[in-house]
Amino acid sequence: MATMRVAQVSRPKAPFQIVERPIPEPGPGTVRIKVLACGVCHSDSITKEGLFPGIQYPRVPGHEVAGVIDAIGPGVAGWQPGQHVGVGWNGGYCGYCDHCRRGEFFACIRGQTTGVTYDGGYAEYMIAPASAVALMPADLQAAEAGPLMCAGITTFNALRNSGARPGDVVAVLGLGGLGHLGVQFAAKMGFHTVGIARGKDKEPLARKLGAAVYIDSQAQDPSAELLKLGGAKVVLATVTSGEAMSAVQGGVAPNGTLLIVGAPDSMQVSLIPLIMGSRSIKGWYSGTSIDSQDTLAFSARTGVRPMNETYPFERVSEAYDRMMSGKARFRVVLTMG
Ligand SMILES: [Zn+2]
Ligand SMILES: [Zn+2]
Repeated sequence: MATMRVAQVSRPKAPFQIVERPIPEPGPGTVRIKVLACGVCHSDSITKEGLFPGIQYPRVPGHEVAGVIDAIGPGVAGWQPGQHVGVGWNGGYCGYCDHCRRGEFFACIRGQTTGVTYDGGYAEYMIAPASAVALMPADLQAAEAGPLMCAGITTFNALRNSGARPGDVVAVLGLGGLGHLGVQFAAKMGFHTVGIARGKDKEPLARKLGAAVYIDSQAQDPSAELLKLGGAKVVLATVTSGEAMSAVQGGVAPNGTLLIVGAPDSMQVSLIPLIMGSRSIKGWYSGTSIDSQDTLAFSARTGVRPMNETYPFERVSEAYDRMMSGKARFRVVLTMG
């Protein structure tokens, strides 16, 4: 029987083990993907460290998958072997629960999460429900496509659904794994793009990524600087500091939105300006496979790309530690064979 290598976690907080397993056959409604690259994301710590109840071990993490369909299960329409595809955080949806029937596929009550509820992309092959698969343009390199399946879709889909229109002031708070993509997407979407980060030294990067304006939140009051521009229609908050989010809320324009995709536990909110200016604070779920597909196509056409540090699959432990250190610039990606 043909075998493959996977990097599995045998129990919460256990080290990665590279083991041989039989290459699985795709069951009904699923496809088998030969993995070419897989991003290493902070959310993989949910599986590695056992942060969600009910995860079944051993489990293979990885939800920033880029690969090629290699076999098709029974009852799958619309996909063929040889297609380049990606799989992201949303691991598929049922299509018949009440949320799915309302078109809210991300909220499916039977929804799956790639690399959490089933084995993900730290592997030479994986099985994915057809509903989780996004078509990938052939001219995107697999290592570049991987992070677009999570950090990319999250910022792209949040911005395109934010209500901002071309020419509006849109600020991206934070210039890390999410933010360095958010600035690129905002600029390519035609927003008057503002980058906000800590320190003067981030300004050249922000400008290179497409920011027209840079605010150093250590030297300047970001809310006051945004108000000088008329206020931001949208501030996309990608940081993990509630304090940094609180410091920009005063720069949101009337009818504007503080749109949250970073995940601190809490933030201080001033409620009177929300009421007086009809302002919103809103979260955004990354998206489903069709949103990933749109992210990949937009990125391929406009030149938006993640900045990556790549590691061969065998060095998965080192790659994971590098990602967890917070020092990677900016995404970490495993490449296969
Ligand atoms: Zn992720
Ligand atoms: Zn459903």
